[in-house]
Amino acid sequence: MKTIAIQEHGVEMTLERYTFGSGSPHIFFTGGIHGNEVTGIYVARKLVDYFTHNPPVHGTVSILPQVNPTATRCMQRRNPFDGKDLNRIFPGDPNGTFADRLADAIWKETAEADLLVDLHCCGQHGLPYILSIYSESEKVRELVSQITMPVALHSEGTPGQLFTESTRKRDQAACIIELPSGTCGGAVNVPVGELCYRALLDMLRTRGFVSGKAEGDAPRFYGPLLDVEAQKPGLWIPDVSKGETVCAGQVIGNVDGEAVTAPKDGFVMSVLPCSYLQPGDTWVMTYIQPEETH
Ligand SMILES: [Zn+2]
Repeated sequence: MKTIAIQEHGVEMTLERYTFGSGSPHIFFTGGIHGNEVTGIYVARKLVDYFTHNPPVHGTVSILPQVNPTATRCMQRRNPFDGKDLNRIFPGDPNGTFADRLADAIWKETAEADLLVDLHCCGQHGLPYILSIYSESEKVRELVSQITMPVALHSEGTPGQLFTESTRKRDQAACIIELPSGTCGGAVNVPVGELCYRALLDMLRTRGFVSGKAEGDAPRFYGPLLDVEAQKPGLWIPDVSKGETVCAGQVIGNVDGEAVTAPKDGFVMSVLPCSYLQPGDTWVMTYIQPEETH
């Protein structure tokens, strides 16, 4: 284990990097870029534990299980020293504020990787998914196809994220995995964490880092995540659940008794539970469509 130190004007933070095996190919896992996304940290730490007892049979596995530890200590998304979202400022700046320097350090640590998997959380109410810009890189598509989780989504490709910058600027095969969090702030969703851990071990077997053959099924590829907003604030009562298929025009719930309908056919990824919608904050559902139709 190696310790990486980040400093700015008398503030210092350290994080741990674990490296197992040697030579190529080199796969890198990162967790906790957003400090409160603890199910991702749980999976990264399970991988540290696995490779501590079972070194890779081929190539190098590097893991930064907790990239943004001060944000995790505060159980918040953003870095507490400058309020920046670490996953919007890659490749970082060695002369910038604290989070810029942290991004710069992570960018340099991950420079030699061929493959990069960044572990995140997507809130409490959704299904897990792999997120990538698979249409921009065959290498990315290949990596994603080997991770045996059911759903692979296409990202909007927002710049400044570790996986988008790594794909575009360094030609690495990079993706994010989004995992639902537990039922309250700081809670790990253990069943989803275990599902992701098994899916990553499958990919590591297919790639030859771990011996054996993959056991799970390849994901299905979908377009981007689509939002449904209700027409007005009020009491939202849902009529559908995550994992259901909906048709265009189908009633998915109601706000103060007025029906809300699905705008298109799709597969439901997350649904807001019964709650009061506020003016300007009327999101109720996300859904996806298969790759061919978007
Ligand atoms: Zn995140």
